[in-house]
Amino acid sequence: MNQTPKNIAVIGSGLVGSLLSIYLRRQGHSITVFDRRPDIRTITFSGRSINLAMSNRGWRTLREIGVEDEIKKIAIPLDKRAMHVIGEPMYFQKYGKEGEAIWSISRGVLNRKMVDLAEKAGVVFKFEEKVWDVNLPETKVYTGETEKSEWQEYQFDIVFGCDGAFSRVRHKMQRRSRFDYSQDFIDVGYKELTIPPNADGTHKLDKNSFHIWPRGRFMFIAMPNIDGSFTCTLFMPFEGEVSFERIKTKEQAKDFFKTYFPNVRKDIENLIEDFFKNPTSAMVTMKCYPWTYWDKVALVGDSAHAVVPFYGQGMNAGFEDIFVLNELMTKHGNNWEAIFQEYQQTRKPNADAIAELSYRNFLEMSSRTADPKFLLQKKIEKRFAAKYPDKWIPVYSRVTFSERPYAEALAEGDRQEEIMQKVMQIPDIEKKWDSDQVERKILELL
Ligand SMILES: Cc1cc2nc3c(=O)[nH]c(=O)nc-3n(C[C@H](O)[C@H](O)[C@H](O)COP(=O)(O)OP(=O)(O)OC[C@H]3O[C@@H](n4cnc5c(N)ncnc54)[C@H](O)[C@@H]3O)c2cc1C
Repeated sequence: MNQTPKNIAVIGSGLVGSLLSIYLRRQGHSITVFDRRPDIRTITFSGRSINLAMSNRGWRTLREIGVEDEIKKIAIPLDKRAMHVIGEPMYFQKYGKEGEAIWSISRGVLNRKMVDLAEKAGVVFKFEEKVWDVNLPETKVYTGETEKSEWQEYQFDIVFGCDGAFSRVRHKMQRRSRFDYSQDFIDVGYKELTIPPNADGTHKLDKNSFHIWPRGRFMFIAMPNIDGSFTCTLFMPFEGEVSFERIKTKEQAKDFFKTYFPNVRKDIENLIEDFFKNPTSAMVTMKCYPWTYWDKVALVGDSAHAVVPFYGQGMNAGFEDIFVLNELMTKHGNNWEAIFQEYQQTRKPNADAIAELSYRNFLEMSSRTADPKFLLQKKIEKRFAAKYPDKWIPVYSRVTFSERPYAEALAEGDRQEEIMQKVMQIPDIEKKWDSDQVERKILELL
């Protein structure tokens, strides 16, 4: 055993908390996980809840504890986007090279599996126990019914805050001097809807694709579930000309789908009912620093870095935190101060990078996809990347199909953008975009 066993609390049994608890058990520690919510395994849902895209970073973290194959059985590989553009037949865009795919997985199903695996590994779960306060220097955790009710006190050696974007543990750290914190909501919200399976249980759309209906400031996406259904998300501004605010009646909702999404309208189950029943949720980028307190407390996952979901990397980044923490536990043994220092120093620039990339993707999707110059630039990049795959790795591939740091992907993306800005200055680029001259120019600038 590399580390002396400690008594550790993990606050939050979400994807990150439950996976971290398995890793910590493997290092020989005693683990108690608290969650304010009931045990996810006792909640009935059809498997059609939110789904997530798992990519290389997430899989690597699952592989390390030997559960990759088991989890892949409840996931569906998506090797391409299916683009549903108004006025054009649906077309596919391959994500990466042959064999590269992101995987659609139900958050609920995955979370259940993680809690199961953690329990089998000997982790103790305390559900429906909300943490109200943490004494940071003394690593005491306080839980109770309400903020005013009598609290139960627990004593631990180390506390991990895996309690999500609105973390209570972080809230406590925020009150310390020199704690940096920022939170930025975007003006776009999202709502989930469902496309049910065909009567024979098959999928209504191609099941190995990530379906996108881009409409400029708003868009609709669909990801497959293993039960034959699709979970769909409508992203749209809260206010403005086309917005959630403007859809108040059943007629308006019907008209909206008829106008913008005619080919899916009939497939969405209980479209109108669900539109008004399901909540419209907000999206936030949250940054903070430091992520740790002495050798006592550390934030992991969304509690340390919440990002907008336009790169499909929030969970993947949280899982990567765990992977890195584990490497550092092996490297530094019992020196938790060194583990925590190196953890926050190496992870912070990468968390900032994926936050930036995710935000840029949001801007790109919402405003630049209608810009002909931008589309031409993307076409040139694509052509060049196909011809020189070793010289031009798209940022998407660096983020999604690689395990190299996010910060490197961001820097490389900036370098490519600089080159492309120069290429786009070539006179008559619209006519010459696929010429040798353009190709030579890129090669020269690289
Ligand atoms: C619309 C949308 C789409 C997304 N798509 C993707 C995707 O495709 N790919 C991807 O990688 N990521 C995606 N994400 C991000 C991903 O969902 C999150 O990054 C991930 O769920 C974070 O996990 P977590 O365990 O850190 O936090 P959470 O999942 O938020 O879990 C926190 C847990 O802590 C518990 N808790 C909170 N406060 C307390 C308290 N005081 N006491 C006790 N327990 C507490 C909560 O009940 C919860 O169980 C998406 C996010 C959104 C919103």
